[in-house]
Order: sequence, then structure tokens, then C-alpha cells
Amino acid sequence: MTETPGKAADLEWARAKYRAERDKRVDPDRAKILDPNAHAELLHDPYSPVVPREPENDEVDAVVVGGGFGGLISAAELRKQGVERVRIIEKAGDVGGVWYWNRYPGAMCDVESYVYLPMLEELNYIPRHRYSFAPEIYAYTRKLARHFGLYDLALFHTAVTGASWDAEAGRWTISTDRGDRITARYFVVAHGSFSSLKLPAIEGIEDFGGKLFHTSRWEYDYTGGGPAEKLARLGDKRVGVIGTGATAVQIVAPLAESAQQLLVFQRTPSTIGVRNNAETDLEWAKTLEPGWQRRRRDNFTAITNGDKVTEDLVRDGWTIFYNTILERPDLADMSPEEVARERELIDFEHMENIRERIDDVVRDPAVAEALKPYYRYWCKRPCFHDEYLASFNRPNVRLVDSEGKGVERITSTGVVVGGVEYPVDCLILATGFDQDSAYVGRIGFDIIGVDGLRLSDKWADGPETFHGVMTSGFPNLFILPPNNTQGTASVNFVHGLQDTGEHIAQVIAELDRRGVVADPTKQAEDAYVDHVVHGSGLAMLGSGDFLKNCTPGRWNNEGDPEARPSKNVNFPGTSDMYYGMLEKWRRAGELEGLELTPAPARAARDS
Ligand code: NAP
Repeated sequence: MTETPGKAADLEWARAKYRAERDKRVDPDRAKILDPNAHAELLHDPYSPVVPREPENDEVDAVVVGGGFGGLISAAELRKQGVERVRIIEKAGDVGGVWYWNRYPGAMCDVESYVYLPMLEELNYIPRHRYSFAPEIYAYTRKLARHFGLYDLALFHTAVTGASWDAEAGRWTISTDRGDRITARYFVVAHGSFSSLKLPAIEGIEDFGGKLFHTSRWEYDYTGGGPAEKLARLGDKRVGVIGTGATAVQIVAPLAESAQQLLVFQRTPSTIGVRNNAETDLEWAKTLEPGWQRRRRDNFTAITNGDKVTEDLVRDGWTIFYNTILERPDLADMSPEEVARERELIDFEHMENIRERIDDVVRDPAVAEALKPYYRYWCKRPCFHDEYLASFNRPNVRLVDSEGKGVERITSTGVVVGGVEYPVDCLILATGFDQDSAYVGRIGFDIIGVDGLRLSDKWADGPETFHGVMTSGFPNLFILPPNNTQGTASVNFVHGLQDTGEHIAQVIAELDRRGVVADPTKQAEDAYVDHVVHGSGLAMLGSGDFLKNCTPGRWNNEGDPEARPSKNVNFPGTSDMYYGMLEKWRRAGELEGLELTPAPARAARDS
């Protein structure tokens, strides 16, 4: 176990150790990825067949791209606001978004379901567990779609191929890969942050001769079983998993129970906190007062954003860390340097607890040591699991630690790490999602606005938005901002999608009421972009050097935060501040910053 000869020595030791571990991992090629479009075989839908249909050629009020929580909430809110004909267009075979695609064994929500699943009170629904399993969440997205009548016009297994603004008609024309040509007054893009697969460009990956798939395209035909069943066909298979992030942490235990041999290829260990999942206490649920969900959700986001609150309503692994800081009133009387040092100490002690848990659970000391994360807690998204670590005690499970270097090469029969080839029959990529390449590439189609302006050109150097949700030259286009697109970010992604979706629906309803088309002025957009580019980051991350000293990962642009394009950022402040800004703007009622022109259809009708 780590020696702790005193606070000052602890910090000195931790800084040196964290720096050494960080330096091992700095590599300009570590985030190189394959173009997923050149690997259609890895993108196909293994869950439902594509049903032939005739192309649609009609007009609706609004087209919403994406049937995940962002699209569902926006569409539902639009219908609540009286915008009736709302069409979801979705690449998958159903609604659900990440919960349609991520059906891997053991998949569950890492945020408490009572704050994660939107509109629980409206739908009179209580999740079965504190942390819901994926099938229940997928079923819930279907319930939402049915509740708000969103299936009627929806098009599934359909990818948008282009959208262009027709100024004369005041309409968007949207085309798809199924030959559809749809017109709509409003165009909402809710592509999400986790819909483009990250396929690592590891040398030789294309030569692998065994079974290869990404976790969000789980091949149950090959593995057998189901999300909560034994993977019966893996009993005679050597299975390799690349990655040890949030997804890998969930699949390792079920794979360990089923595979003949499981090899986990690790580049950076995750922090594994206690999960403590439990069935929902229905007696507790009966005591919940109206408005409980919003209060609980807002409280969770406030705490995990580092806001001061008087009470912690969730009290789970996420909030414990922040509470340790918030419950230190003495910090208020300290100098910024002293506060930074105290926060570093709190962080160190928290990470020591995480490392001690590994020693307590993992029997082989060398394996335990390799599983220990040596970086500050908030350098990577924390993980929580109660079976992951114990899986490494099984005789059929082997951790292949690459000492921070990652997989060296893939051959036709195995995976090479540190010059040693490990033969595998099946290789599973738990390598996450591309959240950082150019937005237009990720959504898969270009958007053409006023006078032929292409979004790919306008955003060539990064997003330029008004409030993260509109962009000038593209009237009546609304974007649910994914990560680093000038919207807000929080641990509970769905909170952001809900409040932003509500905002978009309310703005659209107001435009409809006024019979106008809205385009942000360049001046208003420039002012907002200037604000997000020059604002300071979230308090929870501590001082400016925090990210620079973190182990490489996507939060610090793989170890070089200063090289991140300056416009690829989130709103500089807490989520609460962001929602507050949107609400204040709406309440003012002026639609300030938008250029409003009469909507052609309304003008024609009135004349
Ligand atoms: P991830 O967090 O991005 O992790 C990817 C893993 O693959 C990391 O361990 C990474 O190592 C490794 N990796 C990537 N390229 C590699 C290479 N070339 N060689 C070796 N290793 C490589 O992806 P994820 O686990 O799929 O999670 C993605 C996001 O989904 C999470 O941030 C989380 O927000 C979300 N998620 C949410 C839930 C939920 O319950 N709500 C559940 C699962 C996932 P490094 O760490 O060294 O980069």
C-alpha cells in the first residue's frame, strides 16, 4: 500500500507519481481513429432488420434528427407547445439513441435513474432500480415516444443525407438515404455525444481474422445470451476487450462469467467507486412530493458542478467527493493558494481510498497495482462498479496492462502488447465514441443555409453559435449541443438535453405564435462566441493547470488542453448558470439577438 508519511510528503509524492504516469501516456497518435464510414461492417444494426418502405415526400412542422433522449424530449416538448406534426428521423431501428445501441451485457446507467430518466412524474413511472439497467431505459424511451405520439410520423433506419434552407418558402428541405424529401419550418438536430463510434487506428486492426465488434453493436448471434443472460457461445472462446473506460467496466464481469478466457487490454485504469445498486423502495417512492424529480435532479447537477447547496438529496458515489469539499466551510477563509492545496489533499485522500479498495478486492498484488489509477479524481469520468475488480481474481481473466502505451498492434490472430502476442478469437472494442472531430462529419450530412452557406465551411474552425443552440445564416435551425459545442456539460447528460430541449421547443412555439422566421444576428453570435471562448472553466476542475497536469484523455485534449480549437468548448460556468441565462433571455420576451422576418406561409395567408 502507498506510504503516507505526512500531508506535505503525500502531496509531493502524489504529484511526482501522477506526473510520471501522465508522461508515460503522452503520445500524439493515441487518439487516432479510423473513418467509421469506411467500416460499414462495424456499423450495421445487429438488433433489428431494415424494413423496406416507400420514400416520404411531404411536409411536417418540424423535423428532429435523432430519437435518443435529446430528440425525444425536444419532439415531446414541441408537441406540448402545440407544434403538432413533428417527425423524428433516426438511423437506428427504433427510438432510444444510446440506449437502443448500447445493449452490451451488464449495460446500466451510471447516474441515479431517479435523476437521469426524464419526465418520471409526467409519465407516472418509477424505475425498478436505483441505477437502471439498459433494457429498462430503452423500454422507457419507447414509453416516452408512445406517450407523446412520436411514433406516428417517425422514420427509422433512415439517415439524413442533406438539409437546405429555402428562403422563399421559409422551409427546410431534408433528404435521406431512403429517398425521402421532407419539408419543415423547423429543423432540430439532436445527434448526441455518443453516436459516432471511436474505432482506434491500431496498426493491423483491419487484418484481424477473428470476430471483431464495438460494444455499441453487440453481436449476440456470436456471443449467445442477452444483456442479463450468460453468453453461452463464449464458453470455448478467448475474448479480448480493448479499453477500460465506463463501458469496459460494465462488460468485464459478464464476460468473465461466460468466456473461456478473458483478456482485458488496459492503457489507463479507471477510478472504480462503490456502486451499491438496489431495487427501488416503493414505500419511499410513495412519499415523494410533487416536483420531487426536478428538485432532486437540479440538486445533483448543482453538487456535481461544484455549486454550494444546503442539502445533498442523492448522496451517492458522485456526490460524496464534492461534499467533502463543500462541507469544509473553513475553505472560505483561505487564500486561493491554500484552497487549491486543500482541494488537492482532499483529492489525494479520495484517490487513496479508491486505490485501497483495489488492494482489498484484488488478490494478486501485481494485478492490483496495475489497476490503480494515478491521477486526480476529475481527470477522467469516474466509474462505479461492484463486480469489475473482483473479476480479476478469476483464473480465466487476465489483465494485460500496457503501461500506458496501449495496444501496439493487432495481427490476424491476436493482440500485441509490449512485444507479446496474445491470441484471441473475438476482439471487443470498448473504445468509446468520437466526440471531438468536426461536427458536420459526425452528424454525417451537411446543412446548407442562406445563400448556399455550408455549415461545414462556417464551422471549419469550430462551432459558432448563439447560446449553443442556433447559428447565424441558418434560420430556424436548432441544435441540441453535444459536448464542446458551446452548450453546457454535466455528469447527468439528460439534464442538459431536457432543459435545452425545453428551451428550443419554447423558442419555436414563440416563433410560430409570432409567425416569424428567426436567424441569430452575426453581432449577437460573435458576442456569445467571445463569451464562451474567453470565459473561465468550471470551478470543480480547480485552477487553470488542473487539466494540463491530468493524465491524457479527451477532457484535456489527450494531454494538450491548450491545443484544443478555442471554439470547441462548453459554456463557461455551471449548468445552472447556463439554464439561467436561457430562461432570463426567454423571459425578457424580446428574442434579443435574433433577426425576425415574417414567415412566408403566414405572410401569404395574412395577405
Ligand atoms: P471511454 O470512456 O472513451 O473509454 C475508452 C477506453 O478505450 C479507454 O480506456 C481508453 O484508454 C481505451 N482506448 C481508446 N483507444 C485505445 C487504444 N488505441 N489502445 C488502447 N486503449 C484504447 O469510452 P466508454 O467506456 O465507451 O465510455 C464513453 C462514454 O460513455 C463515457 O464517458 C460515459 O460518459 C458514457 N457511458 C455512460 C454510461 C452510463 O451509464 N451513463 C455507461 C457507459 C458509458 P485511455 O483511458 O488511455 O484513453
